[in-house]
Amino acid sequence: MSNQTLLDRSLQSVWHPCTQMKHHETFPLIPIQRGEGVWLVDADGKRYLDAVSSWWVNLFGHNNPRIKEAIKLQLDTLEHVMLAGFTHEPVVALSEKLAQLTGLGHAFYASDGASATEIALKMSFHYWRNTTKPLKTKFISLKNSYHGETLGALSVTDVAIFKDTYAPLLLQSAQMPSPDFRLSARGESAEDFALRCASALELYVSAHHAELAAFIIEPLVQCAAGMAMYHPSYLRRAREICTQYEVHLIADEIAVGFGRTGTMFACEQANIVADFICLSKGITGGYLPLSAVLTTDKVYQAFYDDSTLKGFLHSHSYTGNPLACSAALATLAIFESDHILEKNKQQAAYLNTKAVAFTDLPIKHLRHQGMILAFDVATTQAKFSSACYAAALSQGLLLRPIGNTVYFMPPYSITESEIDFMIDATLSALKQVL
Ligand SMILES: *Cc1c(COP(=O)(O)O)cnc(C)c1O
Repeated sequence: MSNQTLLDRSLQSVWHPCTQMKHHETFPLIPIQRGEGVWLVDADGKRYLDAVSSWWVNLFGHNNPRIKEAIKLQLDTLEHVMLAGFTHEPVVALSEKLAQLTGLGHAFYASDGASATEIALKMSFHYWRNTTKPLKTKFISLKNSYHGETLGALSVTDVAIFKDTYAPLLLQSAQMPSPDFRLSARGESAEDFALRCASALELYVSAHHAELAAFIIEPLVQCAAGMAMYHPSYLRRAREICTQYEVHLIADEIAVGFGRTGTMFACEQANIVADFICLSKGITGGYLPLSAVLTTDKVYQAFYDDSTLKGFLHSHSYTGNPLACSAALATLAIFESDHILEKNKQQAAYLNTKAVAFTDLPIKHLRHQGMILAFDVATTQAKFSSACYAAALSQGLLLRPIGNTVYFMPPYSITESEIDFMIDATLSALKQVL
């Protein structure tokens, strides 16, 4: 079948995510046929380096033999069983492993990030009801936060283009100043700015804690805001403030978890453990949809009761899917056997050295955190991000700038020569559009 036919059929029948479909009149879809390592290959054999890990999910490359093998093995024994009333080895092994890694011993599963956010919000709210503090019903998040797009998650998200249309449907929530260091005052260090933002958080929480259930936060990097990075001291203070005022801290590590920021989880860099951690995206190495919310014994015990209604009566059909859990176990095994966090340090250092090439262009705030590197392009072009996306594609590179922010979040399996290609193709694309 010709590509054109496939594209037409797709436009007829598939409603693509995060897309004004009419834009496809001028921006053709790309029919991907296969993936290999960091490369995606289209129906004409054209290759694209996947510099955004297919929306931040892929960790060890496309068509990864070890993850693929684990799924195939699982496929021969059990594809799925409901998790209410039943259990199975992959979900138990994964929960034990995640407990070791996060310090949080009780894992609840769903299939996507937004559902994990919903679960954490509902659990927090329900915890306070179960512990006779039913007035604690409200949530706070950071300015420019992103926690997913279902109604509850969108309520704590602060991205106008995703949120404003649906405002009448959403829960009220308040947004605290973001410690994004690009917003710091002249001469102010990232840490001083983080502490100043934490003081504002404390002021709000001290006044409203009686009605606050939880503070949800993306630790270290607000990715969807355009890779807004901040000093870990903010997290340390946020943990102290939440503990002092009895407000849950929910760490949304859906994007930053599994090594993206240089440590397995971003919270480790502030030496804190949240009351809830939300995980998804990289958890299966980018193979299958899976998310998890892990929490403390204290929260778990508040639900453990003779009363059914005190239990957490929430479920999704594919909760704890064995295939997805086996992909996650294979992913975690690769971290250990291949010393990924150590290796990533060298790769990140190489990427940072190479990125100096961008400083000849009109850019600001070249920044990095672990395996994420970003900079802001000084341009007034309204269509910069789509022009840059298109120019990069023509160079064989999948880049998806967020506004004026160009970023790299490649699979960890990227080699030095592939990093060279990624940098060179980005330079060419930028020179084409600027
Ligand atoms: C992607 C993302 C989500 C939502 O996950 P989905 O699987 O897209 O629903 C939530 N929080 C953060 C920080 C994310 O990056």
